Amino acid sequence: MSASDPGLLSLVPFVSVDAMMRIVWDIGVERALTELAAYIEEDFRRWELFDKTPRIAAHSAEGVIELMPTSDGATYGFKYVNGHPKNAAAGRQTVTAFGVLSHVDSGYPMLISEMTILTALRTAATSALAARALAPPQARTMAIIGNGAQCEFQAVAFKAICGVECVRLYDIDPRATRKAAANLEGSGLAVVACGSSEGAILGAEIVTTCTADKRFATILTDNMVGPGVHLNAIGGDCPGKTELHRDILLRSEIFVEYPPQTRIEGEIQQLPGDYPVTELWKVLTGQAQGRRDARQITLFDGVGFAIEDFSALRYIRDQVARTGDYQKLDLLADPDDPRDLYGMLLRHRPESPPK
Ligand code: NAD
Repeated sequence: MSASDPGLLSLVPFVSVDAMMRIVWDIGVERALTELAAYIEEDFRRWELFDKTPRIAAHSAEGVIELMPTSDGATYGFKYVNGHPKNAAAGRQTVTAFGVLSHVDSGYPMLISEMTILTALRTAATSALAARALAPPQARTMAIIGNGAQCEFQAVAFKAICGVECVRLYDIDPRATRKAAANLEGSGLAVVACGSSEGAILGAEIVTTCTADKRFATILTDNMVGPGVHLNAIGGDCPGKTELHRDILLRSEIFVEYPPQTRIEGEIQQLPGDYPVTELWKVLTGQAQGRRDARQITLFDGVGFAIEDFSALRYIRDQVARTGDYQKLDLLADPDDPRDLYGMLLRHRPESPPK
């Protein structure tokens, strides 16, 4: 899919939800998550090359709609994503997304893709990538509080990338926990359904919070977090939407994706604007230290950043180039004479115009 291929310039490859699921199963979920994490790591290692901006958010009482753009100078990407916690009650997803990759040299799109499944995959891959650098190396048990759409992706990514063997699940809605436990049957993970978040964190060296509620929630209180634990807090990702008690933050070493965005959206919105945090890309490139010792509490305050979506789209672009499993969208007008756009419209005038 190069800029010099005129066929692919006017007909844009489109990866539907069906095609995305075929791609994932063709590769295998664990392998896809592992390969995706490698693409994300590769882009985090060239972090300074990217155009970066906090995502552009349109807030309403019900949720948020966001645009997440970035570019490495040769390829531009953006994701459209929403977050609407009350959607679930109406039978809809809390988070849905689609995204585009474009050629910087021509401005023409090279790929348009569903990103609801891809966001769950990239979020899980990023969480596990962070945990591989920050969690206690011997960690084998993870608690997951919030067992909605993201939950199983997180569980499988931590198995594949960090060697987690057991997940302890809790959700205020027991149906969500039953769903997640059933989906994880046969995954190779030991699954324990718990009746409270206090029960879920027992013996867990890693705690993932992925709840959805548009408010300052307290999913974990200070007394629930013992020394040495790694916290993977991904549900708090909007102004006014957090999951951890502030006192936990004060006892933790905090790692983030892009500070200007995380200070607006992450757990650290509860802290002063100059509170010290470490950027994950610096840990991955060896410019900053990850976990220091066995008693340290590490917190990945993950809100999701545009470069992760860029990496995910890059990964899918490479997969469909290999498999050819995509539709061609007639997305871009392509007159023979580029200046004669109106002439093309005229040539398509119906014989008898509709009344
Ligand atoms: P979802 O609505 O499918 O699931 C959320 C679950 O949280 C529900 O099952 C709900 O019952 C449960 N829950 C709510 N309050 C709870 C509480 N107090 N204790 C325990 N469980 C509780 O949503 P999802 O798609 O799984 O997303 C979860 C969160 O992650 C959302 O806030 C979303 O915005 C966020 N998210 C973050 C990233 C990122 O990159 N950081 C990416 C995707 C989603």
